[in-house]
Amino acid sequence: MEVVRNYVDGSWREPAASERLEVLNPATGEALATVGLSLAEEVDRAAQAAAAAFPEWRRTPAVERVQYLFKLKDLLDRHFEELARTITLENGKTLEEARGEVRRAIENVEVACGIPSLMQGYLSEDIARGIDELMIRQPVGVCAALCPFNFPAMIPFWFMPYALACGNTFIVKPSERVPLTMVRIFELIEQVEFPRGVVNLVHGSRQTAEAILDHPAIRAISFVGSTPVAKQVYARAAAGGKRAQVQGGAKNPVIVLPDADLESTTRIVADSAFGSAGQRCLAASLAVTVGDARDSFVEAIAQAAAERVVGNGLEEGVQMGPVISVASKARIERLIGLGEAEGAKVMVDGRGAKITGYEGGFFVRPTVLVDVPKEGEIVTTEIFGPVLGLIHVATIDEAIDLVNTGQYGNMACLFTSSGAAARKFRYEAEVGNIGINIGVAAPMAFFPFSGWRESFFGVLHGQGRDAVEFYTQEKVVVERWPKEWSRKF
Ligand code: NAD
Repeated sequence: MEVVRNYVDGSWREPAASERLEVLNPATGEALATVGLSLAEEVDRAAQAAAAAFPEWRRTPAVERVQYLFKLKDLLDRHFEELARTITLENGKTLEEARGEVRRAIENVEVACGIPSLMQGYLSEDIARGIDELMIRQPVGVCAALCPFNFPAMIPFWFMPYALACGNTFIVKPSERVPLTMVRIFELIEQVEFPRGVVNLVHGSRQTAEAILDHPAIRAISFVGSTPVAKQVYARAAAGGKRAQVQGGAKNPVIVLPDADLESTTRIVADSAFGSAGQRCLAASLAVTVGDARDSFVEAIAQAAAERVVGNGLEEGVQMGPVISVASKARIERLIGLGEAEGAKVMVDGRGAKITGYEGGFFVRPTVLVDVPKEGEIVTTEIFGPVLGLIHVATIDEAIDLVNTGQYGNMACLFTSSGAAARKFRYEAEVGNIGINIGVAAPMAFFPFSGWRESFFGVLHGQGRDAVEFYTQEKVVVERWPKEWSRKF
């Protein structure tokens, strides 16, 4: 069985750690590989290699640095299908969803190739007589990303291409549950022939992440994961004086107004709630029906949930794969039970799912809870599974109030044909990503992947210009060149 390796200072090494975890195929429960949990010494080796590579890499002109990214894009394109398959194998999402993820990863490489203009500074002549002032963007140094399980390819690419293009050196720590996709990508990175130490891969779990957070040579941390861990990561990064962009969990409401188009709204909300088995930070988790919308929407969404084809994501026609682990399945089923105990009615029950031929897989079928009590724990708890709770309110103001009183602020969506309602919602909803007649408001690579309140800690987000600002520090220079001095020339 494959033993997952680290890629440090331009070569592959097995983690020395004696503690190993199995990487499971969630559709079958079978082991695909084992992954070692790297120790602090291995993090130190990667950080030292990255620190040693930094001076030469930052002096490499930006136009030359992006040549490596052009090569990487080409390799990712050529290995597109194989990468998508690896994602499905270790994460469980369908092949079509995995393809979408690889596409998004590549788009971030494409945007980062614009760095020669994206990282330009600016200059003012004569702020006083003979005095000029300029702002230069310079790289930060060694940077690292700590990543979650749900997008093994895309999420590291919210960060890595920008960090490298800006002249930083980099360490990626994938989730210990899905390390294989990044191994395949680093096999391509090896072919790109970045200078040794510029980009490194270190596997592990909590202790590995903590060693990264505590390492003095690492200057910037990009994190994506659950909110309780995000809070610890943000505090620990700050204690070490590092800049940090820290994305947390979510509980995303979608609001359905009576004037929404029922057919398309149902299809889009079902895709949002049950796509990737609900394991997306932009998954719809609560559907809030306003006024008369309830009558038609409840039946329609229940039917869409019941009809969804669940199975092994590698198979043609399957619309939803398993959840990531047996523990996750148990947790999701427990939370459905909690909703029921709090008074919700389980209209479509996905517990106890059995998929013929995949008895060892971690499947939960789409679940719809109706009449979820607004004050219930189920309304605030991130389930991270294919479970949609339905809440009914009388007015759009009540619905927006529900959005704004939640703990999280990752995404909220509105379904309507009214421009005035859409504008009101866009203006008043206190979340970072808004969808209008869109169910997964995922920003393109040239926009920041936003997030507010407990879904994000920091200032600058991943992707696009925010990433460029995060991975550069601003140096302001004031220069005096008296006119008399130039008379000599
Ligand atoms: P997680 O928080 O369990 O793990 C994330 C990463 O942190 C992993 O690499 C893990 O090894 C590491 N880690 C675990 N405990 C740690 C600790 N105490 N200190 C430092 N590092 C630690 O998250 P997950 O289960 O892999 O991913 C799912 C979560 O990620 C969900 O909550 C989801 O909403 C969130 N997520 C958010 C976004 C976003 O854009 N806001 C995107 C994707 C996923």
